[in-house]
Amino acid sequence: MADAGGGAPYYLPTGNEVALFEQCHARGLAVMLKGPTGCGKTRFVEYMAWRLGRPLVTVSCHDDLGTADLVGRYLIGAAGTEWHDGPLTRAVRAGALCYLDEVVEARQDTVVILHALTDHRRALFIEKTGETVTAPPGFQLVVSYNPGYQRMLKDMKPSTRQRFVALDFDFPAPERECEIVEHEGGVARDVAHTLVTLGRRLRGLRDRGLAEVPSTRVLVAAAQLVVSGIALADACHAAIVGPLTDDPELAGAMRDLVAASI
Ligand code: ADP
Repeated sequence: MADAGGGAPYYLPTGNEVALFEQCHARGLAVMLKGPTGCGKTRFVEYMAWRLGRPLVTVSCHDDLGTADLVGRYLIGAAGTEWHDGPLTRAVRAGALCYLDEVVEARQDTVVILHALTDHRRALFIEKTGETVTAPPGFQLVVSYNPGYQRMLKDMKPSTRQRFVALDFDFPAPERECEIVEHEGGVARDVAHTLVTLGRRLRGLRDRGLAEVPSTRVLVAAAQLVVSGIALADACHAAIVGPLTDDPELAGAMRDLVAASI
């Protein structure tokens, strides 16, 4: 349901993030989207790329992501050794929006290559080829960052953080979240309302040891199962309770909340 016709991804704004992002884009400022997983950051970037008429290059970061994975590498082909641009280099050349999802997962030495792209230089240095690629005006670097996740283990260096404008994301207000679940899940308003109310109650279990609380994404997934003919309680167990915990006690508490909410 991402595409609402005419190519526009469906995105329901939750504050002034659209105007802020547009100003950042116009001024070539890199943006950091901060917020829990599944709260709409990726969808927002897809929407902004469409709105600004820019291509979008997305990279999901992981702890093994090295510079070559972003910038490119020499590969042996039929014609001998050839240079292949990585996604970041392609994005810079194309003047695209480059979205690095969960950037803290990437190795620190990888993140450092972003620095020259985030200041007045707006350049990418490709060490292996000796090339400097200067970013055209449409290029913009966007990263996402989940402040609650593995906070003790991983964090972005302050010197890197200061290179971004931060936009704060959180789960939408109940009315908006209902609208999103209704639209994305294709369910009736009352079902969306039940799921959102349940989601908000379950988010209250964070203090009981739930590492990640239910996101808008899992509520949408439950809604989609309901539309497919799965009973509401079963859909909630499968799409919400199961993915969030393996702990029998916590799962029991969550199931009780499901039973009390539907
Ligand atoms: P994140 O990138 O923050 O992990 P996503 O952007 O993938 O999360 O959002 C997960 C899902 O939640 C989306 O696929 C979409 O269905 C829904 N969603 C969340 N927030 C919004 C919003 N503001 N507008 C439209 N859909 C939303």
